[in-house]
Amino acid sequence: MQTILDLLPTTLGAWPAIWLSDLLRYLIPASLLAALLPLVPAGWRQPRRVQDHTPTPNQRRREFLYSMSTVLIFSLVGASVFLGVRAGWFRVYLSVDAYGWAYLALSLLLLIVLHDAWFYWTHRLLHHRRVFRWTHRTHHLSIAPTPWTAYAFAPTEALIQAVFLPVALLIVPAHPLAIFLFTAHMVVRNVIGHCGTEILPRSWLAGWWGRWFTTTLHHDMHHAHGRCNYGLYFVWWDRWCATEHPQYRQRLRDLIRRVSVDPLLHSETNPA
Ligand SMILES: [Zn+2]
Ligand SMILES: [Zn+2]
Repeated sequence: MQTILDLLPTTLGAWPAIWLSDLLRYLIPASLLAALLPLVPAGWRQPRRVQDHTPTPNQRRREFLYSMSTVLIFSLVGASVFLGVRAGWFRVYLSVDAYGWAYLALSLLLLIVLHDAWFYWTHRLLHHRRVFRWTHRTHHLSIAPTPWTAYAFAPTEALIQAVFLPVALLIVPAHPLAIFLFTAHMVVRNVIGHCGTEILPRSWLAGWWGRWFTTTLHHDMHHAHGRCNYGLYFVWWDRWCATEHPQYRQRLRDLIRRVSVDPLLHSETNPA
């Protein structure tokens, strides 16, 4: 077994690539959504808007700078996972055949469900008045979130979010493909949750997705109101713990109704 000192040069050599992949994982979905949303016809976009405030360029700049600090922290934790895998600390396996494809899919699902629980409970803790100011306040400076808000965390909060994966990998055997899909899903859902416009199909919002999964409206109401809608991917923790905003369901129904109306009607009434 190699020691930490033996593994340090390889880990330092791998770190720039880990940092770059963390950077691209954030930049690609955030910039795509930020660039494409304004190009979508107003008749489609207007009824799907979930917020009244308009984000300022200063807000976007602040979100981007904090996100760069988050990317750095995520990459440092990623480098420690890289080292830990080689040192044999984590239950990461390299051959799919070791557990099979069905287990790979199951482990991905398990990581997502566990991360949702981790996020919900750490999120509630971060809203405690004794820790909010020096942890989660930075993220809540964005009353009307943008795709760039997805990673806009104070370093303390970024670290709390980043340590989930190493902790989970102590328990759940996972293939690198499952880890990659888990992190990609995490960023994409996070960017969609902050983009201020409900981009998912109406049939999803009115059906199974709206019943079980968080929507952009769900997280937007968290930014607007604070102590409600703490969940990340699923709505069940907020339901079980009675932290769902009392008007969330009604506002989602209203949004679905607006989306159902002929888009031409919206382009006439909302020329923006
Ligand atoms: Zn919060
Ligand atoms: Zn947020």
